[in-house]
Amino acid sequence: MIFRALALQLGCAAAQEYPARPVNIIVPAAAGGPTDTISRITAQAMSKVLGQQMTIENAGGAGGTIGTARVVRAEPDGYTLLIYHVGLATAATLFRKLPYDTKTAFAPIGLVTDAPMTIIARSDFAPNSLGELIAYLKQPGNKTTFGNAGIGSASHLCGLLLASELKSQLATVPYRGTGPVMNDLIGKQIDMSCDQATNTTGPIQARQVKAYAVTTKSRLPSLPELPTADEAGLKGFELAIWHGVFAPKGTPSSIVQKLAAALRAALKDPDLARRFAEINTAPMAEAKATPEAAQRTLESEINRWAPIIKAAGDYAD
Ligand code: ASP
Repeated sequence: MIFRALALQLGCAAAQEYPARPVNIIVPAAAGGPTDTISRITAQAMSKVLGQQMTIENAGGAGGTIGTARVVRAEPDGYTLLIYHVGLATAATLFRKLPYDTKTAFAPIGLVTDAPMTIIARSDFAPNSLGELIAYLKQPGNKTTFGNAGIGSASHLCGLLLASELKSQLATVPYRGTGPVMNDLIGKQIDMSCDQATNTTGPIQARQVKAYAVTTKSRLPSLPELPTADEAGLKGFELAIWHGVFAPKGTPSSIVQKLAAALRAALKDPDLARRFAEINTAPMAEAKATPEAAQRTLESEINRWAPIIKAAGDYAD
């Protein structure tokens, strides 16, 4: 009893002092991409609440598993965190030899946003609408190149869904994140991609890339002309990308709660809301910005994607 009381007191003291130095957030995707952008906006708003700097370290590659493994192995002291997305859940099945068990490796903090995706191409790609794109991709011998952020990434999942709807193949070109994919699309080195609107809104508005559709049920406020995939010919096509903040398992609960409270406060910050709106996404509802909701989402998403990936038999290792 005495020990428990002491431990609780120590925990409270740790939380009061925490964070006494900058917190490092590992983002397992390249700089300049959507996960990076979401993470930087979130980190800035959380650091205002916590009164401490939060730094972003990009560690892309191997479907996000390299950066994720670093967080899993980090000291569980609240000074190393992960911000990532659905790729965390798909990697759990795609990689049969992961050095961690995704369902139990984390002390989740909370979910950040559910970002819509857009189907895009280089600005001079021949098809001018989703209907034309569908017909183009269905042509025999079609050699369209599709840039993605590696196996299990959001862009990979979107490409898989598209190819399976069209019963056609896309030649995928893997990158460490979709920031570099966007550079190569703008530079016309590759034909197509599908990426979170958080990365594509600016280039679509500037006509640096061509956009065919948004993958969520409603049109995007700042791209009102862009139809939904469902409206434009792919009935029922729907994909939104959840992002969350995770700490390594064993992080003291007082610190987890402090971070979760900071995340909820950050998601109410008008500056964050404005910046999210500019890139066509929105802060996650308060009830989902909690450790419990993030753990539930992680587990249910692992369970949702596992049979799909196993049925495809397309493993990363
Ligand atoms: N959008 C990427 C993905 O397809 C990752 C990124 O660079 O943020 O998962």
